[in-house]
Amino acid sequence: MQPGRFLWNVGKGDCIGWYKNSGRIFTQNIMEQECMRIVNPITAADPVTNRTIEDVIRDFVRTSPMNRLEAFDNTQIFNEPLVGFADGDDPIFTEYKTVVSEKHLTPREALALHDEEGRTALTSPLPLSVISFVLPIDRGTRSSNALEEEGPSLRWNHTRWKGQEFIDELERHLVSFLEKRGVSAIAPDLTSAFKIDRFSGGIASNWSQRHMAYAAGLGTFSLNEGFITPRGMAMRCGSVVAGIKLTPSIRPYAGPFANCLFFSSGTCGACIRRCPGGAISEKGHDKSKCLEVLFVSQKPWIEGAHGEGYIGQYAGCGLCQTGVPCEDRIPVEPIEDT
Ligand code: SF4
Ligand code: SF4
Repeated sequence: MQPGRFLWNVGKGDCIGWYKNSGRIFTQNIMEQECMRIVNPITAADPVTNRTIEDVIRDFVRTSPMNRLEAFDNTQIFNEPLVGFADGDDPIFTEYKTVVSEKHLTPREALALHDEEGRTALTSPLPLSVISFVLPIDRGTRSSNALEEEGPSLRWNHTRWKGQEFIDELERHLVSFLEKRGVSAIAPDLTSAFKIDRFSGGIASNWSQRHMAYAAGLGTFSLNEGFITPRGMAMRCGSVVAGIKLTPSIRPYAGPFANCLFFSSGTCGACIRRCPGGAISEKGHDKSKCLEVLFVSQKPWIEGAHGEGYIGQYAGCGLCQTGVPCEDRIPVEPIEDT
């Protein structure tokens, strides 16, 4: 059977066929020309590949009720994910001990903290991979936050906290999928080994999701210390370490800041103007000032001064991720008229 071939009619206007380019089953409403998968054919017997992992992540994002803003109109918190892979022994992970923090874990160290099998993985030549995913924030949420100037919109605030609950659940789901197929796996940020250290210049965790996404070729860093992906900076990301050989993604960018106009062309700086606390300048992102905004200046949002319903330990901000050219894409410099 060939991808794209319909097999049989099952009802007026509907067919079942192979999902285009994937060999998976879908239904297609002929009238609307809209494809929708109704069967998840991944079984315990299927090999674990890049493709099956991507499908597991995409299906969960599409179908999980946790990926919904219940307090609003039940729209999705996150849209279609981007998924990337890195070799768990890529030297870049050792570089992170210098770039991020000396306490930053390599994937092998992270898996070693997991279980007996993991401890073996620390020193043995067992294959290891990092699976990273990027979850673009829904357009309605981005638009609401782009209108704000001093603190986050209510949608953004709920996306910050409900979105994190969803990310945790997605990581657990992926770990469970892998373990059921005999693959040792761990979501390092969900373990007791995960730490966030405070120091004079701000904070640093021992498992940076943005650095995992960079290693997996999903984007680059930016002036405001965000992460610009092909679906923009207004996103959140997560990762899982798996004791299996997967094909690493290519890192297609010219350097670690290539997607930011400030570094690529010396222009933009829109995020500098968006920050209500002066935490971004041409020198970069001042974590201490940013934390001051999050925990002090924007405390009234959590206390109800700007409307009821804000949740979480802090309001969430994200103003420098919205209303900027990199919000939902890799920005390009406007071409001047000649
Ligand atoms: S707003 Fe402009 S300068 Fe700031 S991160 Fe985005 S592209 Fe870079
Ligand atoms: S998150 Fe808010 S306070 Fe922090 S740098 Fe961005 S705009 Fe400024």
